[in-house]
Amino acid sequence: MLKDQEKQELKKLLLDERDRIEKELHSFTTETSDSPGGHETLMPSQEREVNPEDQASQEEQYFKLKSLENILEQRLIEVNRALEKIDEKNFGTCEKCGQEIPWQRLKVNPAAPTCISCAA
Ligand SMILES: [Zn+2]
Repeated sequence: MLKDQEKQELKKLLLDERDRIEKELHSFTTETSDSPGGHETLMPSQEREVNPEDQASQEEQYFKLKSLENILEQRLIEVNRALEKIDEKNFGTCEKCGQEIPWQRLKVNPAAPTCISCAA
């Protein structure tokens, strides 16, 4: 079982990470849109005159950003879930096999829902 002190340490790591993710997600919505209206402006506009190559790279850029944003959102969900679990007794145990997740692993990834062998 994790000591309270260890839990507090992980909780701090998780809260820091949540802050960082939220900031990054926020910078996405501000940096990538040139007008208030959010993500829609990223889609290649029909009205703008763009040559096909530009349009292709714009689309590529859009999907790159989109997938990075999805990764961050997914990560945020994991972090939030770990934060919910941290006050419960089952924090630090693998969601798949129920084994204790090694402290070393949690320290690297406090949001890890499974042990190393289940994650592999
Ligand atoms: Zn496991």
